[in-house]
Amino acid sequence: MAVPRRRQCPTRTRKRRANIKLHASPTVACEECGQPKLRHRVCPSCGTYKKVVYRSKA
Ligand SMILES: [Zn+2]
Repeated sequence: MAVPRRRQCPTRTRKRRANIKLHASPTVACEECGQPKLRHRVCPSCGTYKKVVYRSKA
């Protein structure tokens, strides 16, 4: 059975991956502490998500 040697040339792969970090990850201000945090993630500074504390403050 014939096997394709290369589906995509390295240039096309690099061009596609060059855009991944170019776009900044969407951050929102935390409702509890106002710090920027990733969406749908527990806040790294106060440890809450949807008003539920998952990590106590240090
Ligand atoms: Zn927070």
